[in-house]
Amino acid sequence: MDQSSTNELTELLKQARESVRYLEELGVETVELSIVAATTVQQVGLEKRLPQRPSGIRAADPISKQQVRIPSKSHPAAQRPQDALFADLMPTPLTAAATETLEDIWRDIGQCTRCGLCEGRTQVVNTHGNPKARLMFIGEAPGAEEDAQGKPFVGRAGQLLTKMIEAMGMRREDVIIGNVNRCRPPGNRQPTLEEAAICRPFVFREIAAVQPEVIVVMGNTALRNLLEVREGISRVRGQFQDFRGIKVMPTFHPAYLLRDPSKKRETWEDLKKVRDHLDTVSPR
Ligand code: URA
Repeated sequence: MDQSSTNELTELLKQARESVRYLEELGVETVELSIVAATTVQQVGLEKRLPQRPSGIRAADPISKQQVRIPSKSHPAAQRPQDALFADLMPTPLTAAATETLEDIWRDIGQCTRCGLCEGRTQVVNTHGNPKARLMFIGEAPGAEEDAQGKPFVGRAGQLLTKMIEAMGMRREDVIIGNVNRCRPPGNRQPTLEEAAICRPFVFREIAAVQPEVIVVMGNTALRNLLEVREGISRVRGQFQDFRGIKVMPTFHPAYLLRDPSKKRETWEDLKKVRDHLDTVSPR
């Protein structure tokens, strides 16, 4: 294999690892291997280099669509990178994972006890709004009012968020609103990294189910859990980012705006960019 094929293979392996990790977080166990992926395998000469293939994939197949099982982390096959490579060669678009409804996800969450936050909560606060929304807002975690009512953003910060949505020319019922964590942290503290990591796969799955055109991440917790950036919200706000092909606009959290109303001006600039983007593209 020449140097350029080796580089291409290395890049494909990197992408495959990343995609499998993401799909595992989504809880996806099978994906369809597209003709593009199969062609790429042949182009870089993997057919010759990797004789071991997961059962069910034959080299000569004119593969149009095949179900490939992604080994779970505990499965011994998960330790073999070539299996992951064949499972998902190209970065997986979110559409490939949109096989479940919001109700399926909420059923799976149930009366969750996956982290310690369950001990102090009144109820799980799931994402709420239009399941076909073009626009999704993601915050941090429920506060006291949300914990009592079982809906995200219904307290003071939520009332401000509603006004922001209306200022964009939309109604609250048009959008969908969720959080990284679904249980109220004691004293409204920030969720720990571990608590956020346990809960965020559910919001990833909701994103895959809804497939909004734009996501607004509000504050550092939402920003860092969706985009895994190190910079704070003040640095990255106002610039569109990408989450698996979906545009993401980071902006200040409405609770922060209640503490520092001078930041409303910048937030409004950010939201206008979102509104203008939605106005320029036709709805799906
Ligand atoms: N703050 C959040 O981040 N989420 C809510 O639901 C309410 C306040």
